[in-house]
Amino acid sequence: MSWANELGQEISGRVLTDDAARDAVATDFGRIVVRKPQVVVCPASAQDVARVIKFAARNSLSVATRGGGHSQTGQSLSDQIVLDMTSLNQVTRVTEGAVTAQGGSSGGRWWSTSRRSASRLRS
Ligand SMILES: Cc1cc2nc3c(=O)[nH]c(=O)nc-3n(C[C@H](O)[C@H](O)[C@H](O)COP(=O)(O)OP(=O)(O)OC[C@H]3O[C@@H](n4cnc5c(N)ncnc54)[C@H](O)[C@@H]3O)c2cc1C
Repeated sequence: MSWANELGQEISGRVLTDDAARDAVATDFGRIVVRKPQVVVCPASAQDVARVIKFAARNSLSVATRGGGHSQTGQSLSDQIVLDMTSLNQVTRVTEGAVTAQGGSSGGRWWSTSRRSASRLRS
């Protein structure tokens, strides 16, 4: 069994090995560095993230965590595992002084949810 299959059995999120998924995260906003990963992981939970990191450490694999891919010199790229955090993009709590969100929530979602909730808090 390949390590990608083994990883797929350890997590509940998706482990993608097709060319389209790997090409989509092979470069970043800077377009200077190109590094196509062997797998792209879309975690379903924080536990999945922890499992991926432990798996990579156990098997000496490199992992890059990726959000929007706006880095400019390859910081969000990896030859082996890209952990695509956009699958964890929920804003979970908005109070008057704070917003709590998952690690892959984008600025747009963050702001629109916060604005809607702030309006509710005010009314
Ligand atoms: C045109 C342009 C304009 C910008 N303007 C501004 C600006 O005005 N102000 C400003 O502050 N920044 C600005 N930036 C920088 C950009 O907003 C930040 O780099 C951005 O926050 C990166 O987010 P990302 O999700 O795209 O990260 P990525 O590019 O995906 O990752 C960047 C780094 O963060 C790590 N990372 C990503 N997600 C996580 C996570 N959940 N947990 C741990 N590590 C993680 C990656 O491994 C990588 O090392 C700009 C960038 C561009 C390209």
